[in-house]
Amino acid sequence: MTLLLDDVTLTYADGDGRLTALDAVGLEVPAGTLTAVVGPSGSGKSSLLAVAATLVTPDSGRVVVDGVDTGRLDRAGRAALRRDRVGIVFQQPNLLPSLTALEQLLVMAHLAGAAGAARSRARARALELLDAVGLAPQAGRRPHQLSGGQRQRVNIARALMNDPAVLLVDEPTSALDHERGAAVLDLLASLTRSRGTATVLVTHDRTHLDHADRLVTIRDGRAS
Ligand code: ADP
Ligand code: MG
Repeated sequence: MTLLLDDVTLTYADGDGRLTALDAVGLEVPAGTLTAVVGPSGSGKSSLLAVAATLVTPDSGRVVVDGVDTGRLDRAGRAALRRDRVGIVFQQPNLLPSLTALEQLLVMAHLAGAAGAARSRARARALELLDAVGLAPQAGRRPHQLSGGQRQRVNIARALMNDPAVLLVDEPTSALDHERGAAVLDLLASLTRSRGTATVLVTHDRTHLDHADRLVTIRDGRAS
């Protein structure tokens, strides 16, 4: 099991009280499979991804990423785990405006400390990933020279740069038209199988569910 959430509860401060965003949520995502998460706005979908990404620590319960019980890690340990084993794709492709598509990917290797031979390996990997997402010809372009769909594909390639075990994707097609959204989904599903990632996809688009191995519905912080 590459991603495991066991009995996870998360609350946020809410005036004088607490708001329960996740209520005893359990989730198991094997390698090479895609789990779709659907539910109304405010039901806890993004909170679920934030906890799985170790960006937010739950009040209780266990989050196990690639065999590592994240509750045992300190802040630096969690940052290292995110860098090395978790790929995150947010709704908006937050690319750096001054960098080319290729450089957006190389930054990830740089942050992971790649130097010397590792640097040229990273370059080869970045080019391979851009090719896998159909963007080899655009490797030298900056974000403003790419379409919305192309930017989102760079975003996905970047998330895969450090070969993550877990891929967390939050409504990746909300800024795209239907056709480009469908192409991004095809890509995510095929990368999940070919790279063996444990992928969690939050979506509001029912057509995406065709690609999912499992479906989780979340309502008021409860998963079913
Ligand atoms: P979804 O992604 O399904 O729309 P979220 O996980 O973003 O839902 O939010 C779940 C609930 O938690 C909502 O009621 C939201 O207002 C609340 N919430 C989310 N993030 C925070 C936060 N940082 N502080 C306080 N409340 C939050
Ligand atoms: Mg959300």
